[in-house]
Amino acid sequence: MLDKVLIANRGEIALRIQRACRELGIKTVAVHSTTDNSQKHVFLADESVCIGPPESLKSYLNIPSIISAAEVTDAMAIHPGYGFLAENGDFAEQVEKSGYIFIGPKSETINLMGNKISAKDAVSEVGIECIPGSEGELDEDVEKVHTLADQIGYPVLIKAAAGGGGKGMRVAHTKGALQHTIDLTKSESKAAFGDDTIFMEKLLEEPRHIEFQILADHHGNAVCLGDRDCSMQRSHQKIIEEAPAPKIPKELRKEMIEKCIAFCKHIDYRGAGTLEFLYEDGRFYFIEMNTRLQVEHPVTEMVTGIDIVKEQIKIAMGMPLSFKQEDIIEKGHAIECRINAEDPKTFMPSPGKINLWHPPGGPGIRVDSHIYTGYEIPPYYDSMIAKVIAFANSRESAITRMGIALCEMIVEGIKTNRDLQIEIMQHNAFKEGGTNIHYLEKRLGL
Ligand code: ADP
Repeated sequence: MLDKVLIANRGEIALRIQRACRELGIKTVAVHSTTDNSQKHVFLADESVCIGPPESLKSYLNIPSIISAAEVTDAMAIHPGYGFLAENGDFAEQVEKSGYIFIGPKSETINLMGNKISAKDAVSEVGIECIPGSEGELDEDVEKVHTLADQIGYPVLIKAAAGGGGKGMRVAHTKGALQHTIDLTKSESKAAFGDDTIFMEKLLEEPRHIEFQILADHHGNAVCLGDRDCSMQRSHQKIIEEAPAPKIPKELRKEMIEKCIAFCKHIDYRGAGTLEFLYEDGRFYFIEMNTRLQVEHPVTEMVTGIDIVKEQIKIAMGMPLSFKQEDIIEKGHAIECRINAEDPKTFMPSPGKINLWHPPGGPGIRVDSHIYTGYEIPPYYDSMIAKVIAFANSRESAITRMGIALCEMIVEGIKTNRDLQIEIMQHNAFKEGGTNIHYLEKRLGL
């Protein structure tokens, strides 16, 4: 049994993991930077350790500091949350080599799926379709690259194999712009990820982003908890997610669920993970796999009644999944709105002191947030301050509940994207369901 888990993260997700540990009777260790000592989960943790200065590189990304914190507190396992070190294979390996349990997949799996080229190769082995593009890394030969782009058809997307978080992705609309786009993506990728391997993909014009949540244990069992639609995006970043994804033909959905399960068994996956796809003209094209907990996991929890974080921890303890695919019953509809501390017009982060926080409530409303009145949002980290989740029997009722919840919510002292979220809940296109990934930017005139 695990008796103490170190949470190598901050913000709402640290609090979420802490709550799951509590329910399982597991003690928690919070690690934090010097600026984060008044984080809610730090106050609530059994123990806390300061791991460095505010800059992420020196604290939340500082592997020796985090492992030392596990040593001094006698923690047995480390949960990485999302972001920071969650998809760093080297971190997972060092955690395990130091004698701790990494709550996530094996480091080899993280590395395999962390590289978008090897990930595409791996899913192809079980018959999952990928977006048409280069076979692996882009050729050095300029002529060949031009021929390939002509074959695929402009616009093409140049992507970094190591990319993530919407970074390392650029569109070339014409032959004339191709070389410059390649050079830019390479240098950007080298700077951001220390790797300049790139590949080419067709830019799908009107796809939806649909993803499948999976859970797999150490005993060869894998299940899929259904899909999520995360098409409401700005700058390739999701801002609204929902489960189940509306308007997907039942048979096709079933087929995708089976393929995702087959893939997890094929690579001997363990833990929670998400296979992400673009969906266009009735076809699913794989884009990447996230080998970790995702921001939007609550919508799946609401419709399945399964606590994904608790399951992650139980899997890490070596326990077999306590349910089978046929036991998973999806009920109702859930929507999540990400509330960011940002200027509603420029989208620039808006850190600062929260003078008043009144979270919404009522039937079907869940708020995952670490903020409180008097809390000071530091400028160093992600600007997401809360996730408002609305659950109801139907999609229509979930939208109504979300609209009411957002209007009820009060955040004073900083700027947020709340009004934009309220507006989207009123859009006819969103109400109808099935908007594509470009919908929001077009609507905003970006
Ligand atoms: P990241 O790892 O940075 O999140 P992804 O590969 O998951 O990158 O893509 C993020 C988003 O970028 C997708 O949800 C989609 O909006 C857009 N995108 C990625 N690949 C394509 C493509 N081939 N055509 C159109 N949009 C794409």
